Amino acid sequence: RVPLLEVDDLHTWFELRQWGFRRVGTVHAVDGVSLALAHGEAVAFVGESGCGKSSLARTLLGLHRPTQGEVRFDGQALAGLGKADMKAYRAKVGYVQQDPFGALPPFLDVRRILAEPLIVHGVTDRTERERRIRAVLEEVRLGPVDEVLGKFPHMLSGGQQQRVVIARALVLEPVMIIADEPVSMLDASVRVEILDLLRRIQSERELTLVFITHDLSTVRHYAERIFVMYAGRVVESAPVDELLDHPQHPYTLALLSALSDPDADNALRLREVPGGEPPSLIHPPSGCRFHPRCPQAMAGLCDRDEPIEFTPRPGHVSACWLYQ
Ligand code: SF4
Ligand code: MG
Repeated sequence: RVPLLEVDDLHTWFELRQWGFRRVGTVHAVDGVSLALAHGEAVAFVGESGCGKSSLARTLLGLHRPTQGEVRFDGQALAGLGKADMKAYRAKVGYVQQDPFGALPPFLDVRRILAEPLIVHGVTDRTERERRIRAVLEEVRLGPVDEVLGKFPHMLSGGQQQRVVIARALVLEPVMIIADEPVSMLDASVRVEILDLLRRIQSERELTLVFITHDLSTVRHYAERIFVMYAGRVVESAPVDELLDHPQHPYTLALLSALSDPDADNALRLREVPGGEPPSLIHPPSGCRFHPRCPQAMAGLCDRDEPIEFTPRPGHVSACWLYQ
């Protein structure tokens, strides 16, 4: 069977302009990503903010056009889809954003919020819409459906708002959900509930779930496979237990040691980039993009040549010269 989603040498670049016109540079947000996701698979993309995760998500959703490379869904290139097919694609792929309040229209009640995508996608029968809205509200466990239907976003807590966003992503019966930092703006007390909800829905509906997070500590229970991103590229990928129990790439090791370090000041035991800046996506470092911060960087190699992918253990890929 063809993978549900295939990504081939994907680049998504943006022109950065000052005051909206003077060209400042090109942001290499996604810069050479290739992967394939199976039907029903739950994967996580992990990396620091500014590593290109959200740009990758938005490219997969068809919201950004790739600068180079291709995204194929069920064997069909997104770039080749006409307007109607792109609309159909949007119905198949649900999107859960980071900020639920910002994602919900403030002047619509929950019933109307969930009715809207159904209307846009041609579900004209009112009774059928009501049936689907109620079913999806039951599924996300937002409490008594009759009470919830008439509520406006500001009357709901952050966790409840995110349940509405998830319900809206599900109401068109997608085959894939892309969740970009779905809990990072929520109270710590409800994060696990929302992640559990996504995982339960993913497994019950046999959805492909793309979960994007900066938090390596949350992924073990919510994904089957992990992709670690750094400066626009995937630097390591493996099944979740394999990756967390046998991390290979120095960047992943640094992320993991940061988790286990209770002293926040030591939290990133990474050599700082001169100036203390995160890696620039306008002028990415030469060679291995991690080399200015890597404790194991090899002079004359890592700063010069971009590492290719090695397979240090079965099913485990690491783009690092140490595994040559
Ligand atoms: Fe470090 Fe070199 Fe590996 Fe990059 S390729 S992670 S600089 S050892
Ligand atoms: Mg982001």
